[in-house]
Amino acid sequence: MRYVSTRGGMAPQPFTDILLEGLAPDGGLAVPETLPRIDAATLQAWRGLSYADLAWEILKLFATDIPADDLRRLTHAAYTREAFGSDAIVPVKPLSGGMALLGLSEGPTLAFKDMAMQLLGQLFEYVLEQRGSTINILGATSGDTGSAAEYAMRGKQRVAVFMLSPQGRMSAFQRAQMYSLDEPNIHNIAVDGVFDDCQDIVKAVAGDLAFKQAHRIGAVNSINWARIAAQVVYYFHGWRSVTNSSTDEVSFAVPSGNFGNILAGHIARSMGLPIRRLVLATNENNVLEEFFRTGIYRPRPAAETYATSSPSMDISRASNFERFVYDLMGKDGAKVAALWKQLGTQGQFDLSELRAAFAEHGFVAGASSHADRLATIREVYERDGVFIDPHTADGVKVARAYIEPGVPMLVLETALPIKFAETIQEALGRPAPRPAQFEGLEQLPQHVHNLRCDAQQVREFIVRHAV
Ligand SMILES: *Cc1c(COP(=O)(O)O)cnc(C)c1O
Repeated sequence: MRYVSTRGGMAPQPFTDILLEGLAPDGGLAVPETLPRIDAATLQAWRGLSYADLAWEILKLFATDIPADDLRRLTHAAYTREAFGSDAIVPVKPLSGGMALLGLSEGPTLAFKDMAMQLLGQLFEYVLEQRGSTINILGATSGDTGSAAEYAMRGKQRVAVFMLSPQGRMSAFQRAQMYSLDEPNIHNIAVDGVFDDCQDIVKAVAGDLAFKQAHRIGAVNSINWARIAAQVVYYFHGWRSVTNSSTDEVSFAVPSGNFGNILAGHIARSMGLPIRRLVLATNENNVLEEFFRTGIYRPRPAAETYATSSPSMDISRASNFERFVYDLMGKDGAKVAALWKQLGTQGQFDLSELRAAFAEHGFVAGASSHADRLATIREVYERDGVFIDPHTADGVKVARAYIEPGVPMLVLETALPIKFAETIQEALGRPAPRPAQFEGLEQLPQHVHNLRCDAQQVREFIVRHAV
């Protein structure tokens, strides 16, 4: 399988070449030239596989330039009982009312980002070893992505991570999770600014092409295709967990921000997985909900992005959305390039004429508010005795409107409640349960470098610690 750009300006490349790159040279995103189709007999045959072998079967289709035996070793190294707490890797937890949670947050950092990052860590190490090369990953985080990347890359010989975070802006738990890591290749940098300032520094440093090349600066951001491919796996797993025959349909509800998680669902559906609906849930930052309701895509500036109680969805410019629009445009890169050009000049584009196609792709959407989240956390606890985190609550809230008899509704559990303990306390008047291995986390010694909000300081720090 080879990959082209959503804007049509990149010669086809193999998987291992796009693995370490960010944007395509034409500013677009890498997508497969054609998607594999999974037939009914194969779907049935995959029911009995372990999660790691299911991941192997699916990754084999996307990473055709990695020898199959090597790939099997990598998926088995990524999806272990040690890292995910059980042999299921992704447990399904039933709720009342025709719903269940797809447990994607059992990994080392208790958020669904681990599902892709754990595999990405293995893939990076493997490809860098083959090439005799190294990479210095530079990123900015407001919480979940940074810690998932650090836990996936810790101890990897050919990788160093430089993760910028805004001083004092993460939850105590998130801070402790990142800063308590004591690994020579992991560098936490707290900047005296907000998340946008951190991101501006990343753009300044990675945008300096001479510096980028000299120090092999890379990223693990949500546009990385390998992350999407890894996420496709759990849609197949969710489906097989609640169906019997190869034609049984399932709906998925997905708490969304950058459109990475739900894009993987769209890919799975395009490969032939019987998905009835993909229910996109946003919080008050409802750019994507607005698009699926009106057909108008109107990203908001940072000043109009609200800080909410589901902070990992406080995103107003959904980086992966371009891949879906590419499919809507019939895989015509020139049309996508024209739309993004219009976005640059007019700040929005209008696809309302294609609204019938949104439904053909299974998409529906809804938005949730702080009051909705609190009420949903309370209802699920009272009815089922289950604690859910505020992001998952956005998913449950929006999913309810789309439940149909005979079609299981799987809500993607994107984080565990302990990560957002303040909101659980507010909703329930009691603390969120803390998994045993995280007892005393906030009391561990923390390792963080405090730097001024200044790209030059960060450059100098990288030069001193790069691999
Ligand atoms: C990243 C994240 C999301 C949003 O996922 P996208 O792929 O950006 O749409 C939702 N919930 C949690 C807890 C997250 O960490």
